Amino acid sequence: MDESDIKAVVEVLKSDFLTTGPKIGEFESAVAEYCGAPHAVAASNATMALHLACLAAGLGKGDRLWTSPNSFVASANCGLYCGADVDFVDIDPRTLNMSAEALEAKLAEAERGGALPKAVVPVHFAGLSCEMEAIWNLSRKYGFMVIEDASHAIGGDYRGRKVGSCRYSHMAVFSFHPVKIITTGEGGMVLTRDEKLARRVALLRHHGITRDEAMLRQKGEGAWYYEQQALGMNYRMSDIQAVLGLSQLRRVDEFVGRRNELAARYADELAGLPLSFQSLPEHARSAYHLFVIRLKLGEIQKTRKAVFEALTERGIAVNVHYIPIHTQPYYRALGFRRGQFPEAERYYEEALTLPLYPMISDSQQDRVISAVREVLA
Ligand SMILES: *Cc1c(COP(=O)(O)O)cnc(C)c1O
Repeated sequence: MDESDIKAVVEVLKSDFLTTGPKIGEFESAVAEYCGAPHAVAASNATMALHLACLAAGLGKGDRLWTSPNSFVASANCGLYCGADVDFVDIDPRTLNMSAEALEAKLAEAERGGALPKAVVPVHFAGLSCEMEAIWNLSRKYGFMVIEDASHAIGGDYRGRKVGSCRYSHMAVFSFHPVKIITTGEGGMVLTRDEKLARRVALLRHHGITRDEAMLRQKGEGAWYYEQQALGMNYRMSDIQAVLGLSQLRRVDEFVGRRNELAARYADELAGLPLSFQSLPEHARSAYHLFVIRLKLGEIQKTRKAVFEALTERGIAVNVHYIPIHTQPYYRALGFRRGQFPEAERYYEEALTLPLYPMISDSQQDRVISAVREVLA
């Protein structure tokens, strides 16, 4: 937060609208323009934005949604909210994203069994776009909807376009939670090139209610008239949040630039230690929501837990992303078991996330680097 963020919020507090006012549309247009997608619909958070995207995709009971096990639980829960069955596609051990090859193999098998998914949710882990071109080609062949969980990735690039352009997807979802690249306190957004999908998301965000004359079934009732045409929810963002988002969006390139600098410095300074990094293909630029390392536990002769605790004791706020979703008790109760997605499970055992945020100073980063060197020595 800087002074301009605070000033922008105070101005909305003094204005006529705290919610459903002009700032929502301004923020939506600004994000859409930034990403190069024609439509954007703001929502209360990315979890609900994913729910809206799944509903707009027509996901319902008996349908299937596939996502990456290496993600936050919300990437999968959105399918369950719609009554669909959720399954996972294992990750590529280099990019840590859903493997397009594993997806292709699973689709071929699902086709034989008559069990193709209706939606696939690739997650741009740590801010690095998935291989969207390959996934998009598979979507053309097998007829599923592609909903990018781009919660980590606003400001990132893929094949010459901004993540969120939806060049290779039907919809993309951003999160504006405070830990993400830019924030609205709580907030999310659905982007799309498809006007019909955008309208459906907007309708469902607001109780399934419309006042839009063009959409009304019954015309000419009067200015008070509105219609509920679907079972929607209240998943709206407020103007207080939207104006904060507008203010933060002005600095998204600065934030992502600094995150990339810090990540490059980590990679340089930690090279040669018993660990490896997420590999980035040349045609993608990560937004670097996270900087993750994979510990070579065999060489270190320490458990990940011991490394985690030794760094925590040295005052370094390390973390672990992610516990594979299918190993969560809730998902195990649905029939999933350990061993089903071995690459995601192996990665999890070795994973550690180092502190990374735009305001970290070089000397703070030096402290992290020397602590990691010390612990892994
Ligand atoms: C943070 C996150 C979400 C949920 O975002 P909220 O805005 O907190 O609801 C969904 N998916 C991924 C991958 C996330 O990291």
